[in-house]
Amino acid sequence: MNRTADPQSALLHDEARVLAPVLELDAFWKSYPGGVHALRGVSLSIARGELLGIVGPSGSGKSTLLHIMGMLDRPSEGQLRIHGLDVAALPDRELSALRGRTLGFVFQQFHLVDGMTATDNVSTGLLYAGVPVRRRKAMALEALAQVGLADRADHLPHQLSGGQKQRVAIARALVTRPALVLADEPTGALDSRTGEAVMELMRELHAQGTTIAIITHDRELAAALPRQVEILDGRIRRDSGGPAAEVAAA
Ligand code: ADP
Repeated sequence: MNRTADPQSALLHDEARVLAPVLELDAFWKSYPGGVHALRGVSLSIARGELLGIVGPSGSGKSTLLHIMGMLDRPSEGQLRIHGLDVAALPDRELSALRGRTLGFVFQQFHLVDGMTATDNVSTGLLYAGVPVRRRKAMALEALAQVGLADRADHLPHQLSGGQKQRVAIARALVTRPALVLADEPTGALDSRTGEAVMELMRELHAQGTTIAIITHDRELAAALPRQVEILDGRIRRDSGGPAAEVAAA
C-alpha cells in the first residue's frame, strides 16, 4: 500500500486501529447559541459486531448524537474516533469520504428516490464509496438478496410496501459493507407487525456480523436489543454495556 498517497486509508488498515472500537465518543459536548447544550459530556464506545439501541424521549439529544456519530456535525468539545482515528482534524472532503466508506444510514422515512428501481436506489449507496460503475449493480443485487428482496429488484418505490421500502433502504446502507449502520427510528413509519419484521431483519444482520446502532424513542423496542444506552437531557443516564462491560463484570 502506498501510505503517503492515502494516509487515511493507511491509518484505517493499521492493525491496531482495526482492532479499536468501531466508534468512540469521548466527553462530547454539543452546544448551540443561547446556551442550549444538546449533548453534555457524552462518552460512548461501540465495538465491532454490536447491536445497540440509543433510547430517549423527544428532546433528549438523540438526533444531535446521530448527527455527531454520522460525522454530519462537529462537536463543541470532545472527540470522535472511528476505528481509532480522530476525525476532528479531517477536512470536510476527507470526512465525507470516510463517512461513505465506513457508515450506512437508515432513516424513518426511507428516503428512496421515486423514479429509480430498487437496484438503482441501492446503488446510490455506492456513489461515494469509490466502487467502479460496472461493479455497482452486482453489489446492489447482492444487498437486495441479503434483505430478502431479490425478487423486487426492478420495482419502483411506489410498487413496494412500507416494509419493503425500508428493506431497500437497509440494503442501500449495507451495500458498502459499512463498519457501522446508524438507523434513525427505522420502524417509526411502519405498523407494528411490519416494524417487528424489520427488527427481525436487524437481528439477522447482526447475527451475520453487522454492527448496528438503532436510535429510537421506543423503550420496548430498545429493551429487546442486546445493549441499551439511555439518553436524557443530553447525558447518558444508563448504559447496559456491550461485550466489553460483560467481560469487565465477569
Ligand atoms: P431528540 O432527537 O432526542 O428529539 P435533539 O437532538 O433534536 O433531540 O435535541 C436536543 C436538544 O437540543 C433540544 O432541546 C433541542 O431543542 C436542541 N437543539 C437541537 N438542534 C438545535 C439547533 N440547531 N439549535 C438550537 N437548539 C437545538
